[in-house]
Amino acid sequence: MTESLMPLPAMAQTSASVPPAVLLANHLKALKLPTFAREHEKVAFEAAQDRADYPRYLLRLCELERIDRERRMVERRIRMAKFPHTKSFDTFDFTAQPSLNKALVLELARGEWIEQRRNVIALGPSGTGKTHAALALGLAACQKGQSVAFTTAAALVHDLMEARDERRLRMLQKQLASVKLLILDELGYVPFTAVGGELLFEVLSQRYERGSTLITSNLPFDEWTSVFGSERLTGALLDRLTHHVHILEMNGDSFRLASSRKRQNQPLPRRRLNPASN
Ligand code: ADP
Ligand code: MG
Repeated sequence: MTESLMPLPAMAQTSASVPPAVLLANHLKALKLPTFAREHEKVAFEAAQDRADYPRYLLRLCELERIDRERRMVERRIRMAKFPHTKSFDTFDFTAQPSLNKALVLELARGEWIEQRRNVIALGPSGTGKTHAALALGLAACQKGQSVAFTTAAALVHDLMEARDERRLRMLQKQLASVKLLILDELGYVPFTAVGGELLFEVLSQRYERGSTLITSNLPFDEWTSVFGSERLTGALLDRLTHHVHILEMNGDSFRLASSRKRQNQPLPRRRLNPASN
């Protein structure tokens, strides 16, 4: 049995005089198929050369559209995450950080912990690669199609206070609750005011078991009270954060310090006597 045709939209009924190429471009735009629009002529030419039938021709176009769509989606996720730089594990030297569990980190880069709404806390002194690892995990999550937001703890508290003053706190809280992975870098460098600490606590509570949070801190847990100011709040926060958590211990030497020492110990490159002779 043939299915009855859907009524054409008014635009199509009055389109007899419009050239098919223009109509096609129009439909593809309305259907949000930019790769079809861009590639269909070239793929048709190749299909004719290969004597590919119609289904194969369509299949090639669909595959191209899906590949492009995925690439665009990852790019959008990366833009929306607002990473201050792009870092990945390709440039991370695990031998420089022996206290870090490499197998766990590579497992985390697969992103399942985000599906499971678990948290990650990276602890260690300055320069040990916490931000690098957080950025790399964030990038890996974007590549898996997960929504990510990257911020420092101080910047987030500032944004929350500003949103509260401007009566748009609810909106910001909703936004922060909906992201799959929230990365809070540098908790511990700047202590919060009582209100700031409470606002941050509220965000992290709202995310509890609903989304993943990755926190980096130079302070061990027993010093977090100095940041939040309240023992009761810090206790409640740690209770939620550490319920489903992976801890990354990064207690090695500062990578910055080690690499600048290395540079300084290296002999200066000898000047060529006669650069023109080369
Ligand atoms: P932290 O956030 O712990 O203070 P960063 O992640 O900012 O440290 O690291 C400082 C610098 O050293 C960055 O440029 C980072 O890319 C680099 N770095 C740190 N650890 C490593 C590592 N193990 N391998 C490669 N680069 C590293
Ligand atoms: Mg850092």
